[in-house]
Amino acid sequence: GLDVSGARILVTGFGVSGYAIVDQTLQRGAHVTAVDASRSESNLERAKVLETLGARILLGEEHTRALPENSDGSPFDVVVTSPGWRPDHPLLVAAKDAGIEIWSEIELARRMQKADGPEWLAVTGTNGKTTVVTMLESILLNAGVRAVAAGNVGLPLIEAALDPEGFEAIALELSSFQLHWTENLGAHSSAIINIGADHLDWHGGMDAYAEAKAKVYAGTQHACLYNKADQRTLRALEEADVVEGCRAIGVSLSAPGPSEFGIVEDLLVDRAFCENRHSQAAEIANLDTLAHLGPHGAPPHVVLNALFAAALARSFGVQPIHVREGLAAYRAGEHRSEIVHVKDGVAFVDDSKATNPDSAAAALGAAPSVVWIAGGDAKGADLHGLIAAQAARLKAVVLIGLDPTPFTTALDDHAPNVPRVWIDPADCEDTRILMHKAVEAAASYVSDSDIVLLAPAAASIDQFANYAERGNLFAEAARSLGSGA
Ligand code: ADP
Repeated sequence: GLDVSGARILVTGFGVSGYAIVDQTLQRGAHVTAVDASRSESNLERAKVLETLGARILLGEEHTRALPENSDGSPFDVVVTSPGWRPDHPLLVAAKDAGIEIWSEIELARRMQKADGPEWLAVTGTNGKTTVVTMLESILLNAGVRAVAAGNVGLPLIEAALDPEGFEAIALELSSFQLHWTENLGAHSSAIINIGADHLDWHGGMDAYAEAKAKVYAGTQHACLYNKADQRTLRALEEADVVEGCRAIGVSLSAPGPSEFGIVEDLLVDRAFCENRHSQAAEIANLDTLAHLGPHGAPPHVVLNALFAAALARSFGVQPIHVREGLAAYRAGEHRSEIVHVKDGVAFVDDSKATNPDSAAAALGAAPSVVWIAGGDAKGADLHGLIAAQAARLKAVVLIGLDPTPFTTALDDHAPNVPRVWIDPADCEDTRILMHKAVEAAASYVSDSDIVLLAPAAASIDQFANYAERGNLFAEAARSLGSGA
């Protein structure tokens, strides 16, 4: 791997991964400077730790406006930037103009990792990344592979890649931000689950966003997985620079053709890595294996995520029995279609992570009749498509959020007869009370086989600290209803 001793490195962004980058490169003898606009308590604390080890940490707005000088006035060899920094940030623009290379943490980790270091099983997409990666981790561990989830979830990648004990495989979650500054990922296998509209402001448009996602395939050695039902993922693959002999594997919820993963009746089927993929479909698991992942069995998007995880594991040589057991052992992540309470047979489902229309649509697919708690900061998204498509399953709608109009206008057009109520924040002392009122209102509409679903299709920042707080308050309110008869 790349030897960074003596290298002059500038790290932009001092979050969890920024800290890990400074720490790891410093340990290997680099001269490291880090900048971050925030002088938060935790940043100051963490800066102290690394300063005693010889790092130079510049915290505060004033340090982020222009390219800082190295302590001895020499130029930096490389900038390693965190995903929070947009490519048009003045400091990054200045670095580029000065001819300094800019890398993501991913690019740095790839270069620093030993030649016999862990294989990367890389996953990106607009929605479902964390689910696929944690399912994959569960499968790999079940198979006895020394594996870990890293990247956007779990460990920072740099720590996983350079771990002294040595992992065999990394289930790697990558955002489009991280991929932007990555040249040649060189994964063992890679996947794009889907490409929908999100983060377009950061990338400057849909084409640039799709282009960043496509980089996950660059240099892949064995198998590139795409979503057969999402043309954009196939187009990304067609344009990617992959290694000769690398296979394209389609994944979908329909019956698989040769070299594909899919569903036949109630079976998850592998026609890509099974022994005789040209003749016989090879079953890897029954849908019952996933039954615990939704109030009415696993919703379609969860089944699709499981197929992606299975395909990545199979490309790494994991046997079907371990795929099955790993999926059976997997539990839904917090705030991701998570059943947090059941009262009189009615499931209360926390999908606070559904912060955009596509993810809310997936969450709504969990049941045929839903009392839906939605709203928040819609980030300018158009909700007409979502509500038109989902109107038939809406029993009632409870709106939260400071401004419900993006939702009410779409509901007026496409679901005028569905009862709805907006919880006016002016009537609530705090967000705990607000969420209690929302859950009580929702409970007043439910009957038998309905579910109550928090899947806001909007960001939480207008009322809550983050999506986790929003979900936790929902769960608390649901549990306070008691479990019924
Ligand atoms: P990510 O890491 O990409 O944000 P998560 O697994 O955390 O993805 O899921 C985020 C949200 O997207 C959840 O609300 C979930 O319901 C929804 N979701 C998960 N998988 C998919 C999928 N394959 N297609 C569409 N939406 C999905």
